[in-house]
Amino acid sequence: MEPVVIATWPFGRTAVEVAAKLLASGTLPVDAALAGAQAVEDDPKVNSVGFGGIGNSIGTVALDACVMDGKTLDCGSVAGVENIRHVAALAKKVYEKTPHIMLVGKGAEWFGIQNGFPLETLLTPESVAEWVKNRPKKKNETKGHDTVTVLANDGKGRLGGVCTTSGLSYKMPGRVGDSPLIGAGLYVDDEAGAAGATGVGEEIIRIGGALFIVEQMRAGKSPQEACELAVKRVIAAAVRRGQHPARVAFLAMNPKGAIGAAATQGTDFKYAVARGEKVEMLQAKEL
Ligand code: ASP
Repeated sequence: MEPVVIATWPFGRTAVEVAAKLLASGTLPVDAALAGAQAVEDDPKVNSVGFGGIGNSIGTVALDACVMDGKTLDCGSVAGVENIRHVAALAKKVYEKTPHIMLVGKGAEWFGIQNGFPLETLLTPESVAEWVKNRPKKKNETKGHDTVTVLANDGKGRLGGVCTTSGLSYKMPGRVGDSPLIGAGLYVDDEAGAAGATGVGEEIIRIGGALFIVEQMRAGKSPQEACELAVKRVIAAAVRRGQHPARVAFLAMNPKGAIGAAATQGTDFKYAVARGEKVEMLQAKEL
């Protein structure tokens, strides 16, 4: 089987192209996924990930990320990180260099400085102008959001995954979504599969999205069936709360390289797929 990489949203194309090249030259899936995600973190035009992300309600860019290796179940995570752009790489350092899995806020930034991550402003003139222009009128209202979640398979069933975001724009200071939470925004296990999420993080956390999907695959469901079951859970949770389902999307891959994706109505979720050198964009089924 050829190596396979999938990643969320049209900007995921950059991620899968970078990751697929590295997989072809023998890079481990977790590192290939990380390099792909980092290319998106570096792109100032992507205003929901890394450098150039839209600020929170007080205009500060606070990043969340996590990384997981499906062979060892090594996983690392950081949340609410300011002034460091490569937060996915920082999340990986957490499991490489500490006995912990998750570091937040100032502690994560301090750990980044100790490990040579440069401090820089993550604002760009364009992201500041957009923040000012689109500022919500109502208190606690958030606006645009997206995340790059990258899942990679080396073609022999070894899996790795990365999730990195600036989260909901205009979010409350201190708000953390699903993206840095192992089991919510990302879960990867070579013995079952890999899954990731994007969309309104609160609704993904509420159902334990990524781990739920991986456990469905472990029980024999295809990646597509598992993603659809997760979306149904999101819808059922919204119904129980008397709410309209929020925009949420999931994507998944099993060790054999089969893939799937599903989203709630109106999410318009597109994702990038690389199989060997072939790259295409697919549209997720909406339920
Ligand atoms: N899941 C992210 C968050 O809630 C945002 C997104 O992926 O659209 O922070």
